[in-house]
Amino acid sequence: MKIQFVAILAMGLILLAGFNPGKKRVNPFFSEYKTPFQVPPFDKIDSTDYLPAFLEGIKQHDAEIEAIVNNPAAPDFTNTILSFDKSGKLLTRVSKVFYNLNEAETNKQMQLIARKLSPLMSKHADDIALNDKLFLKIKTVYDKRGELKLDAQQMRVVEKYFRDFQRQGANLSPEKKDQLRKLNEELSMLALTFGENLLAETNENFTMVITDKKDLDGLPQGVIDGAAETAKEKGLPGKWVFTLSKPSMIPFLQYAKNRELREMIYRAYFMRGNNGNKNDNKETIAKIVKLRVAKAQLLGFDSYGAYVVDDNMAKTTAKVDQFLSQLWVAALPVAKKEVAEMQKIIDREDGKFMLQPWDWWYYAEIIHKEKYNLDESELKPYFSLSNVRDGMFLVANKLYGITFLKRTDLPVFQNDVETYEVKEADGRHLGILYLDYYPRDGKRGGAWCTDFQASCWDNGKKIDPIISITCNFTKPTADEPSLLSWDETTTLFHEFGHALHGLFTTGKYTRTAGNVPQDYVELPSQINENWAGEPSVLKAYAKHYKTGAVIPDSLIQKIQNSVLFNQGFETVEYLAAAILDMDYHEMTKPEEVDVVKFETDAMNKIGLISEIIPRYRTTYFAHIFGGGYAAGYYVYIWAAVLDADAFNAFKSSGDIFNKDLAAKFRKHCLAECGDDDGMIQYRKFRGMEPSINPLLKRRGLQ
Ligand SMILES: [Zn+2]
Repeated sequence: MKIQFVAILAMGLILLAGFNPGKKRVNPFFSEYKTPFQVPPFDKIDSTDYLPAFLEGIKQHDAEIEAIVNNPAAPDFTNTILSFDKSGKLLTRVSKVFYNLNEAETNKQMQLIARKLSPLMSKHADDIALNDKLFLKIKTVYDKRGELKLDAQQMRVVEKYFRDFQRQGANLSPEKKDQLRKLNEELSMLALTFGENLLAETNENFTMVITDKKDLDGLPQGVIDGAAETAKEKGLPGKWVFTLSKPSMIPFLQYAKNRELREMIYRAYFMRGNNGNKNDNKETIAKIVKLRVAKAQLLGFDSYGAYVVDDNMAKTTAKVDQFLSQLWVAALPVAKKEVAEMQKIIDREDGKFMLQPWDWWYYAEIIHKEKYNLDESELKPYFSLSNVRDGMFLVANKLYGITFLKRTDLPVFQNDVETYEVKEADGRHLGILYLDYYPRDGKRGGAWCTDFQASCWDNGKKIDPIISITCNFTKPTADEPSLLSWDETTTLFHEFGHALHGLFTTGKYTRTAGNVPQDYVELPSQINENWAGEPSVLKAYAKHYKTGAVIPDSLIQKIQNSVLFNQGFETVEYLAAAILDMDYHEMTKPEEVDVVKFETDAMNKIGLISEIIPRYRTTYFAHIFGGGYAAGYYVYIWAAVLDADAFNAFKSSGDIFNKDLAAKFRKHCLAECGDDDGMIQYRKFRGMEPSINPLLKRRGLQ
């Protein structure tokens, strides 16, 4: 072990010798960080440090697993489960820095390293998942777990690891393992084909070129300029081009008066993958669905959905179905009302046609203006970034007593990243929080929360979390601070909710600490958004950046009203897709279906109205056929039900800062959320299962 370590380090030194002749350089990943709070020493990390650290990390991890497997002593919790749980320290240390920075601060060199790492890391993961000897050791502990005098947490960790291996097929006979491996390979190729077809259908196979200025009637200047820019990029200067990417298509549907063109672009959008051309996805999907049934049955489940949901809070597909259908019956009548409202406008304008799916955005926009009248430019001056940040800190302080101390002495990966030390009410250190606000080259789009160090325990010592929030907000200018839109404001509160989850986590074992199922993940984040829009909270933080004036009641009212806009459509469009997803994955016969007929039947069965199309139709439903959301598209609204119900607990107590409830929420739903099943943890906080009514109320569906 030691020899390999020295060899790799020597390689690193030779590489570096060119840069730093004579100076002995130490790879910062090879020892524990010596910085305050053990934050990564960003200022001392060179990109040449990564690869040697990864290679050494993999070797050390392999050696640790070998040691577990070859231990002559009888397998027990400590020598098997705990040793496995705590293995791979160096690999984790370097991975946390590398993968986080590859998202937030990448460059050609980092991307090259990432490409080199990809096969190495997936081989390493396979080596562990398919290690029969390791599984046998874990199974031995699992089988005798009743006799080992384990505490509840140890028991859960044993069961979790056993299940992880089992779900990956470790318990199967060699022939069945081969079948599974073949199925997995086929499925991953099919997912790739699906994605490539969809990409071609979205980006290559259709563009709408406008040559007559009249066809731009109704579009805002910014949208027209964008379309002219796209045309130029496509070598069509002087024309206007719209594509099937949502940022291009949606504004066209929203504003364009030319109804034929609206139909043309939307039809192209919803026919993607279903055009009978070389990028048609129908056959690929039929195969995916069939092979998934086969895979699930190999692993002992009736359907692929049953296999997926078994790991989630919902537990059974029947529970998901019942949940979705409760929401469906509430949302459908509201969507029908919205149709009637739009038809009235069409008739008022003497349109002489019935509302069609491609008309929806256009008439929704008219209703938005007439009924809600919310102008972002009126709002923004009240939402300067620093005010919003202080507002979210204030909410956390009032709920949990924690405080935030700005630090300027810790190394950062970018100069404009802010660093805070988070402290408990009694002054004890809780963790570190990085806030990285602005877009730059090398940062991907969107907003997310991650950690450089997860809260954990090592040799009986608590290791404090180091959390990071990354956003892409408008940068300040010479005369204006960064002013956030309402959407950006709630985004910051949302990501901060994830951060609180990470900061508060207390679990002792890596496998379970803070670990929650897919349909729980967005509870901590979404609940935090609720406080952002509460009038008393808004009055505390939403102050005009120039005058300091508190946001007027009329604007608060507008923010609150706008929550109800178009909710029938939004909910129905989403639910139709979620139900379609479940239908595909509740198939119990491994057979190839006619996907067009399957979708039509599924939508007829629930009575979807002709004015609305599922948010994703089968042939372009990337969440479920290209990504990891098969039988899981429902999780977004599942978490919304949880967050609305949880926030309702605060609301109906008469105090949105109710300290008892906050303490319970922190303990059961954030700190100890990985200690037991999601629903059990939730019930410990709420005293009952969540009700869908608060969400229905919030969306005006009741
Ligand atoms: Zn989130």
